[in-house]
Amino acid sequence: MKIIMLGAPGAGKGTQAKKIAAKYNIPHISTGDIFRANIKNGTELGKKAKTYMDQGLLVPDELVVDLVVDRVNQEDCKDGYVLDGFPRTIPQAEALDKALGDMGQKMDYAIDVNVPDENIVRRMSGRRACVGCGATYHLVYAPTKEEGICDVCGKELILRDDDKPETVQKRLNVYHEQTQPLIDYYAKAGILREVDGTIDIEDVFKAVTDILGA
Ligand code: ADP
Ligand code: AMP
Repeated sequence: MKIIMLGAPGAGKGTQAKKIAAKYNIPHISTGDIFRANIKNGTELGKKAKTYMDQGLLVPDELVVDLVVDRVNQEDCKDGYVLDGFPRTIPQAEALDKALGDMGQKMDYAIDVNVPDENIVRRMSGRRACVGCGATYHLVYAPTKEEGICDVCGKELILRDDDKPETVQKRLNVYHEQTQPLIDYYAKAGILREVDGTIDIEDVFKAVTDILGA
């Protein structure tokens, strides 16, 4: 099963993608996580990506597409995967379709997690990410057992630089201009499914599993 998660930054794509990956036993591929790991490890890719990410801008398509195409060609992706944060532009979606087409494959679902802009700013200011393993929490909606400490690895939690309110507004603008057109793109391809992302995390997941099947 090959799945794309669509939605504004902070809509809950990562939260749902992790749950999908666990339930259906497929890899969760987050381009944001890949870039953050590269930044942490000081790679050339990380250095390049950081300049865009810190400004709330998209990393150029040419730095993202090959990376994802290589990843989905790996052995662990043969039974499917869930893409989170990719594609984010029409050229990325076209490049993905082309790469899959060349392998005689196609995407099965594009699930749009729908959350209005008003909710997003509140979501992002409460999001906390683990500096160690990258697990994501929310101060109110998905709190850790011990405040400020990751449930998974025990490391410290931080507010991502790009989750500060001034950058969030910019990221939302970028989303509307460059990423939202993908909703139409996948509707035309006949694989778009919409879920309401404003309800509880478990209720969103119920809607997702209703789409994907047991
Ligand atoms: P995205 O991957 O789309 O950027 P995340 O999955 O990281 O978004 O979610 C953004 C923030 O909102 C996180 O702090 C997460 O814990 C929280 N969150 C996710 N889904 C919900 C929901 N349905 N209700 C409330 N908060 C949520
Ligand atoms: P995310 O963790 O998905 O919110 O991504 C964080 C940041 O990484 C984004 O704001 C972009 O700067 C960059 N990024 C992640 N995925 C992509 C992508 N597919 N195309 C361009 N930039 C991306």
